[in-house]
Amino acid sequence: MMQQHLLKSVASLSGIAHRYPGGETLRFADLDIPVGQHTLILGNSGSGKTTLLHILSGLLQPQAGSVLIDGQELYDLAPRKLDTYRGQRIGLIFQEAHLVKSLTVKENLQIAQSFAGAGVDNTRIQNVLALLELGHKAHSYPNKLSRGQIQRAAIARAVVNHPAILVADEPTASLDDHNTERVLDLLFTQAEQHGATLIIATHDKRVKARFEHTYQVGGAA
Ligand code: ADP
Ligand code: MG
Repeated sequence: MMQQHLLKSVASLSGIAHRYPGGETLRFADLDIPVGQHTLILGNSGSGKTTLLHILSGLLQPQAGSVLIDGQELYDLAPRKLDTYRGQRIGLIFQEAHLVKSLTVKENLQIAQSFAGAGVDNTRIQNVLALLELGHKAHSYPNKLSRGQIQRAAIARAVVNHPAILVADEPTASLDDHNTERVLDLLFTQAEQHGATLIIATHDKRVKARFEHTYQVGGAA
């Protein structure tokens, strides 16, 4: 018996194919991620890593295939249900579209909580911000934060709802070696502290050594 089958899957994708208008069809090998099995998504630039993260986060319905997140077929959900489900289960750290600029750090976390259908929990917010050394920035607006602080605030927002999955797209792009290590430490620590499974996409070879489980998009990089 394979042990794989005894472990609960947090994410399971099969038969996924997607084609953007005018583009080639992108096909993805099946992927099954057991709870706690942090996984690195590898592939050259343009191979489809971001597309795959969008598909498994409920942001982009593929033309074919099944996406099970925490046991739920994602695209069987009506759009509003899907938004709530995403807010509860998936923490997203994308390169663009970070924080709402007209809101403070704390308010950004509050809307993440209400978006997930949970009540606002200010104690939880203070705890998460404290763990990320941002407690003193709760009432600051994003344009008053350093780059590193903005990234940590985005991580705080991603973990505030205790997601089952923490998805990050190229979190170390444009970082030097030292900060790459720091951000990875932070993501691993956050995943442990909040019981989340990491799914990180990168073309950054430095990241590879930190992951036991990798998944290749497109041809070998
Ligand atoms: P990666 O993240 O690995 O760099 P992407 O998932 O961003 O790759 O892109 C995969 C392919 O899909 C590329 O050829 C890209 O040009 C194309 N693509 C990505 N997003 C869109 C879009 N919104 N519309 C059309 N084509 C897209
Ligand atoms: Mg990308």
